[in-house]
Amino acid sequence: MEPSYTAVHHRLRAQRGRASDHVCECGAPAKHWSYDRLDPNELQGVKNGRPVRYSADLDHYQPRCVSCNARRDKPLGETCPRGHPRTPENIYHPPGKRSRQTQCRVCVREDSLAAYHRRKRATH
Ligand SMILES: [Zn+2]
Ligand SMILES: [Zn+2]
Repeated sequence: MEPSYTAVHHRLRAQRGRASDHVCECGAPAKHWSYDRLDPNELQGVKNGRPVRYSADLDHYQPRCVSCNARRDKPLGETCPRGHPRTPENIYHPPGKRSRQTQCRVCVREDSLAAYHRRKRATH
């Protein structure tokens, strides 16, 4: 069974100590353990009533100060990583077995357009 968000954070605390015993990458004292969002097997859970992405792998967490954490740890449901609004029309569910992960339609469109222009340039 997948560990809950809370269980992972208890584990983090047990194995790596408090985030406040560490220093954020910006040099300020850390306050939270922050998921780096790089785990290909990331999980989705609920934190304070809002959906949150997290990892069961403790290596994917970095100590972060309040401001860096607020900047990076935006709750799912507002914007995609590039800042497009995550409205229902903008959320794309890719077909196939990875369909648990959703993509931003604006990003998908931008990416395919960029790929199209790259291909077009390459043929000339
Ligand atoms: Zn910081
Ligand atoms: Zn986007």
